[in-house]
Amino acid sequence: MTKYKRILLKLSGESLMGMQHYGIDAQRLTDYAAQIKEVHDMGVQIGIVIGGGNIFRGLSGASKGYDRVKGDQMGMCATVINSLALSSALEAQGVKNKVLTAIRMEPIGEFYSKGKALEAMQTGHVCIFSAGTGSPYFTTDTGSSLRGIEIEADVMLKGTRVDGIYTADPEKDKSAVKFDEITYDEIYTRGLKVMDLTATTMCKENGLPIYVFNMDVKGNLKRVMEGEKIGTLVHN
Ligand code: UDP
Repeated sequence: MTKYKRILLKLSGESLMGMQHYGIDAQRLTDYAAQIKEVHDMGVQIGIVIGGGNIFRGLSGASKGYDRVKGDQMGMCATVINSLALSSALEAQGVKNKVLTAIRMEPIGEFYSKGKALEAMQTGHVCIFSAGTGSPYFTTDTGSSLRGIEIEADVMLKGTRVDGIYTADPEKDKSAVKFDEITYDEIYTRGLKVMDLTATTMCKENGLPIYVFNMDVKGNLKRVMEGEKIGTLVHN
């Protein structure tokens, strides 16, 4: 028995860099694929949204003089690159998967629809949702909230490099204390930077719980599925 039957896993593009400063670290990709395979083998239905920050972010592009909308489109293309890389790594480990895109770009991936996503997951495919929401001025956190709600996931798992949500940034403040659970409202009132406000609000309004955990420790995704309390649960 697993704690969740259908999950939406959000991975940041930045985490794909591993120890590099740009792009994709092949070992990190393989490690993530292995963790995903472990929970796929448990029969969990898996949707994944992956960011693009390891390649391009629209907002930082705008600060260098790029048009914001074009910069965001470049960012969305970056998420497609990462999605294809993850798809390939999963395939190499024998995990059937499908890349769906929020912007039409066949034959790179099929255009997203809820029906296609559910059918793919129900036939044992991991579904990778690429290109975020398809619109500028959004983030992949919002993209993953949206897809998580649409596919009726039991939880959105936010895989990060820290083991949960703290009162302050634990990498800067040694006195920071970790929450086992926290409400969406407390995130607002404490001004905690878990996800952007749009993404958090979507989860709150639609009752999609978020579980923040450290995805960089091998076996952690499986531990979450087995109900081990290794991260922070965000709920209403
Ligand atoms: N992006 C966008 N619309 C979306 C999702 C993403 O315009 O729905 C663009 C935006 O420019 C963003 C970039 O894609 O900076 C990469 O996504 P994000 O920053 O969320 O990636 P992460 O921080 O998770 O690596």
